[in-house]
Order: sequence, then C-alpha cells, then structure tokens
Amino acid sequence: MSTAAIVPAAGDGLRLGADRPKALVSLAGEPLVVHALRGLRASEVVDRVIVAAPIAAGDELRAALPSEWNGWVRVIDGGATRQASVAAGLEALSHDHDLVLVHDAARALVPPAVVVRVVDALLGGADAVIPVLAMADTVKRVRGGVVLETVDRAELYAVQTPQGFQRRILAAVHAAAVDSDAPATDDAALVERAGGEVCAVDGDSEAFKITRPLDLALAEAVLRSRRHSL
Ligand code: C5P
Repeated sequence: MSTAAIVPAAGDGLRLGADRPKALVSLAGEPLVVHALRGLRASEVVDRVIVAAPIAAGDELRAALPSEWNGWVRVIDGGATRQASVAAGLEALSHDHDLVLVHDAARALVPPAVVVRVVDALLGGADAVIPVLAMADTVKRVRGGVVLETVDRAELYAVQTPQGFQRRILAAVHAAAVDSDAPATDDAALVERAGGEVCAVDGDSEAFKITRPLDLALAEAVLRSRRHSL
C-alpha cells in the first residue's frame, strides 16, 4: 500500500491579517507549510506529497523547501476554493497510491502520531478517516443574536486533518462534487454526502488550525516547548 498526501495551501489567510498567503507566513523562521510537511514526513508513512500553492507563490514556496525533500514533494497551483485545490492535487497524483491523506497547511504542528493513526485506520479497511477532538466548550445554535438551542455536547467533535481516504473513494466523491454550488469545507463531508461511512480517530490539541493572530502566538509557544523537551 502506498500513501500520498495532498496539502491544500492556497488560502489567502485574510483572518490572520498577514500581508502574504498564510502558508508562507513565518513561524519560528520557516513558512507554515514547511512545518506542516515536516509533520507528515516525520510520520514515515507518507510516500509522496502534492502541495497546492497560492497562484503566483509557487516558486517562493518551492524555494522554501529543504532540498532533501526533492522527489518527495511536488508543488502545483491551487484553486479558487479549498475543494478545488484538493481536486487539483488529486488530478496531479499518479495512480500508484491507494491511500490519500488531505492535510491543511494551516494545521502546521500536527503530531506525527495523528498521521500514523489515520493511516493505520485506512490500512485496517476504513474508507474514510478523520481525526477528532471532543468539544471543550458548551455549544449553542444562535440566529440573529438569539439563542435557539443548546446542542448536546456529548456527540459533538471538532474535526482536524489529515483526513484519510481510499483513493478511489476520494476521487469519486470529488468528481461528483465538481459542479456543486456549496463547496465542502472538508473532504469527509463529500463522503458523507455520498452516503459513505467516515470513521473517527483521536486527534490532538496540537493539530489546531492556525487561523487568527493568537493561533500563531500559540504555535510559537508549542514549538518552544517541543524544543525544550528534546
Ligand atoms: O480557509 P481555511 O482555513 O478553511 O483553509 C483551510 C486550508 O485550505 C488552508 O491550508 C488553506 O491554505 C487551504 N486553501 C486552499 N485553497 C483555497 C482556500 C484554502 O488550498 N482556495
């Protein structure tokens, strides 16, 4: 079984307030996407990676990659939505890979153990796998500033990446969704829409998505604590 990963990294990062695409924002001196790739690499279960880069930033991204990753990573142009970026990655992948992970560049500090858990579940026969974290907060449905209901937290989970798929299933649901008016914010949603089964494995709080400036400060702190514990 060969495993490939697609890393959608073509977002603009407006919510981060940076003057450059988020994947290229520096964290401890290196672009976020390099950190995300390092987590995949350290898992030792990912044979090939396709990065969907922001249009016009592909060369800058290529230049930031360590030379020993030549042949492991390929950088392509991303699309207008996350879903389109993943579809472009699927298109660019050779057919040698039976398993495909999709991992957001914005989840820069994913621990390798999470990647391994997802791949192990795929090897165990799952069609689609997502890492999840139980909700810490109470969650309510609010409309127009008024609370409609309190949702039972016991069955609610926050979803992370990498999400893993049997390649033929991911390719089929992306092909079916290509003309959809409502692009999915994650790939497992496409499998759910198609009536497929998605399995959940344990995520990790360090796999949080870097979205706002506070997340960058938290990521710096996580990296510092990892370096201290080496
Ligand atoms: O916007 P959001 O935080 O949900 O983006 C999740 C991931 O999708 C990020 O890593 C971002 O770079 C990527 N993305 C992409 N192409 C887009 C929009 C987002 O690859 N057009």
